[in-house]
Amino acid sequence: MNFFRRILDFILPTSCSFCNDPVGDSNIPFFCSTCWSDFTPIQGPLCPHCGRPFDSPEALRSSPDHACLGCRRDPPQFDQALSVGYFEGSLREAVHQFKYRPCRSLGRPLGEWMATNVRLVSDIDIIMPVPLHTRRLRQRGFNQALLLAHRMSETHHIPYSCDNLYRSRPTRPQVELTGVERIQNVAGAFSLRQPGEVVGRSVVLIDDVFTTGATMNECASVLKQAGAAQVTAFTLARAL
Ligand SMILES: [Zn+2]
Ligand SMILES: [Zn+2]
Repeated sequence: MNFFRRILDFILPTSCSFCNDPVGDSNIPFFCSTCWSDFTPIQGPLCPHCGRPFDSPEALRSSPDHACLGCRRDPPQFDQALSVGYFEGSLREAVHQFKYRPCRSLGRPLGEWMATNVRLVSDIDIIMPVPLHTRRLRQRGFNQALLLAHRMSETHHIPYSCDNLYRSRPTRPQVELTGVERIQNVAGAFSLRQPGEVVGRSVVLIDDVFTTGATMNECASVLKQAGAAQVTAFTLARAL
């Protein structure tokens, strides 16, 4: 009996992926409404460039542009990085289900949560998802960043460009690598099909998780070299 119950739960889960309680009348696939509303939003003092949370607001009180040590030593290619929630607890589980189950139907509610909780910078011209290589796209069946970018575009009425920025060579999953390896892994891995589209434009790059920022930094570098005026790295969740 347990075996059949496990098969049924895999096909049509009736218990929450995070807490195992019944999903009840939740309209979110695989999550009860309590866990879905339990994502931890990022608040408090942050580095104005990379979005790294500061332990104390003191530095920003006297110097609103105060950058973290990492940004002062090695300034990122993007102008600003923003994330909506911490990559922990039920949000971490939701991202895992979305990417690795893979569960495409979580793209809409995650994208809506992202789009409605952002302190979006003004005057954005284009939204661009971080691309997958075609090999990974075939394996997963969808680009999770593109689904999130689509919701952002619809909610904020900003055009999105889904095939200009592309991955010109396959890379290893960043999650398997150390910080230095991540930088090497994505170096030179992105290109633009139509560089003219970004000249003088303010671009928002969208991805699911910001960990070291290596992927965002490489994409931003390509956009800036092509003449983008402003690049914001915007992610659903930030790992600490
Ligand atoms: Zn739950
Ligand atoms: Zn920083």
